[in-house]
Amino acid sequence: MNITPCDRCHSNNALPLEHRPGHTENLCPACTARAALEDAATLHLRALLAPAVAAWAQHWNAAGVRLDDLADTVGSVAASLGQDLSDR
Ligand SMILES: [Zn+2]
Repeated sequence: MNITPCDRCHSNNALPLEHRPGHTENLCPACTARAALEDAATLHLRALLAPAVAAWAQHWNAAGVRLDDLADTVGSVAASLGQDLSDR
């Protein structure tokens, strides 16, 4: 039996998993499955939003808004939407 503790639930059957580039956690089987779902959700959201964000940024950049400012806006809107979900 593997006695490495899970970084998330502290059970004693974890193995290291790099589930995002540069992000390694020791995870038990249940937390490994959850991490895979979280990663899939992240990839799905990015695929859904990328075309809309690219079109929006091209539009507002052509209108004179700097890309750095648009990037900041994307970050603040994403944080706000995340907070809205957390408040539910
Ligand atoms: Zn776990």
